[in-house]
Amino acid sequence: MTHRPVLFLFLDGVGLGPPDSGVNPLRAAEMPNLRRLLDGRSLDSTLEPFHGARASFRPIDATLGVAGDPQSATGQSTLLTGVNVPMAIGGHYGPKPDSRIRSILQEHNLLSRLTRFGLRARLLNAYPDSYFEAIRSGRRLHGAIPLAFTLAGIPLATEADLDRGQAVSADFTGRGWRSRLQRPGTPVLGAEAAGRRMAEIALGNDFSMFDHWLPDYAGHYGEMQGAVRLLKILDRVLGGIAESMEGTELTVFLSSDHGNMEDLADPGHTRNPVPALALGPPESRSRILEPLKDLADVAPAILAHYQLA
Ligand SMILES: [Zn+2]
Repeated sequence: MTHRPVLFLFLDGVGLGPPDSGVNPLRAAEMPNLRRLLDGRSLDSTLEPFHGARASFRPIDATLGVAGDPQSATGQSTLLTGVNVPMAIGGHYGPKPDSRIRSILQEHNLLSRLTRFGLRARLLNAYPDSYFEAIRSGRRLHGAIPLAFTLAGIPLATEADLDRGQAVSADFTGRGWRSRLQRPGTPVLGAEAAGRRMAEIALGNDFSMFDHWLPDYAGHYGEMQGAVRLLKILDRVLGGIAESMEGTELTVFLSSDHGNMEDLADPGHTRNPVPALALGPPESRSRILEPLKDLADVAPAILAHYQLA
């Protein structure tokens, strides 16, 4: 089997919103790296499907034919199974998976399928000790993404992995671990370096994923400056990734579970389409993006990319 590494950069709550910098931080934030990848375009509702020199794009549906606002547990588990989960359980549900979603993840888990075929899958997020304690004690439930990796028998990265440079913190830089988690010894990384690290780890695996859940928080919080700050960091991360993947076989796939942050006039989730953006070798970009119409098409497209479907 040929080595076709994929890095799935998952952005929670980032849809394609109005081309209005008053409500859409993706229009308000300067994102020079993203803009360059998009050949000067912006990531919003005006963006047409395209296949450029460095990136390919198409909008995909996150509502999945189900009424109401899409939610994280059903959206993420749809991405990671190929099953239309809100349709299967009769509604959008979240933020954390319940027993119904858990059993769908158990049965149709993309990560389990990849590992069964001998491919190496990794979740690049590091989780602090307090997270594992909260899970063990039942005070906290896994989100769909760490749950899917756990169910596939793939261990989540720890504080030690972060300290060794083998994982990335949720905020990319580690600053949040110092301030919010009171872990002053956490190494701080520039955003570009975090992107380079992610690309390098991804090149050594077959399927890597990063769960960037902060944009959904920023969307609920509804404050433009915080959202813009977050996107500027993401843009620098993209710059680091783009630099390290140059001339390699790495394909980066960027998508979301539902809209939220792209319209700060609405504090909840939106029914907007979400981006499916791919970077890397042109034929890999087409292979992954062409079959995509909605979230349920993503897992089959990834399997097909590895010639497993
Ligand atoms: Zn949310």
